[in-house]
Amino acid sequence: MPASVQQIVLKVHSRCNLSCTYCYVYESVDQTWKRQPFTFRPATLQRIAERIHEYLSEHRPPALSVVLHGGEPLLAGHDGIAATLAAIRAAAPDGTRLRFGIQSNGILLDDRFLDLFHEYGVRVGVSLDGGRDAHDRHRTFAGGAGSYDRTAAALRTLAEPRHRAIYSGLLCTIDVRNDPVGVYEDLLRFDPPAIDLLLPHGNWTNPPPRPPGAPSYAEWLIAIFDRWYDAPVARTRIRLFESMMYRMLGDASPTESVGGDQAGVVVIETDGSYEQTDSLRTTEDGAAATGLSVDTASLAELAARLDVPSPLAGKCLSCPVLRVCGGGLRAHRWSDGSFTHPSAYCDDLYAIIRHVEQRVAADLGVRV
Ligand code: SF4
Repeated sequence: MPASVQQIVLKVHSRCNLSCTYCYVYESVDQTWKRQPFTFRPATLQRIAERIHEYLSEHRPPALSVVLHGGEPLLAGHDGIAATLAAIRAAAPDGTRLRFGIQSNGILLDDRFLDLFHEYGVRVGVSLDGGRDAHDRHRTFAGGAGSYDRTAAALRTLAEPRHRAIYSGLLCTIDVRNDPVGVYEDLLRFDPPAIDLLLPHGNWTNPPPRPPGAPSYAEWLIAIFDRWYDAPVARTRIRLFESMMYRMLGDASPTESVGGDQAGVVVIETDGSYEQTDSLRTTEDGAAATGLSVDTASLAELAARLDVPSPLAGKCLSCPVLRVCGGGLRAHRWSDGSFTHPSAYCDDLYAIIRHVEQRVAADLGVRV
């Protein structure tokens, strides 16, 4: 089967209005963002739309997801976001299912943006790391002030019933110094349809933070899993745990955190260059680059080039949870110039996957 494009991550603005300490775009070894224009030039946007039209016309996929990303995408402004959405919608042949999304820190989210997102069916994800103390540990403005109050204000509006159709959920980057159940409860205050729990990016060369005295990532996640799984009424979806369960049942993982390399995701930068998934920026300078752009290659040519899974380490190939874990996120496997290693989160992934397996198996009355 030819490689396909399932999701396009459009970098509509290359800068951010926050200076989060763990940011993989600005604070990691990759510094290529400095060479990017702030936002699309009109000719670049037109070329992107032409490439999308070309792909959709020739390949007729059942659906295509387009996620507006950054930096902070809302910095592109109302007119910039409107122009981008209009250009892409106009590029889609009749009958194409375009699914628009945006990932934002929420600070600039206002009624005008929300009206636009309703008009185009753009589902909004907001980054929130828990309550004020947890969130403001890392998610600060350049001067050091926390951003919780601004993000929380936007979320109170987004959580209103009139916006339910465009509210996709919350993205929480884990800091194991924060109480896990407290973080979970603080996220639930904003009634998210779904929560993404993100392991902070790290690898064997630049290991993830493991503060002395704090629980392991597995212990932290297990505390939330048990709270979520044991709730008498489901209050939200947690994609990381759902991905593990999907893999246990033999289905594809909807997230790239577990299950192996996620094919079909293409990143387009503000200068029109094609890149691979952003998490690779944490490995070495230029690691996400492809050398191709909307001027030099079609989306189908790019997908064929990227459709080469990384070889797995011997330890992964003989691991009893490989079918669920997949070796973890590719960026987390990096060491000594190669991805052929277990994840830097190997012990944590093994422990949380085993725990989820045992809980689900006990409910299904099967042995694992
Ligand atoms: S748990 Fe460790 S060894 Fe097993 S597949 Fe995942 S990363 Fe590889």
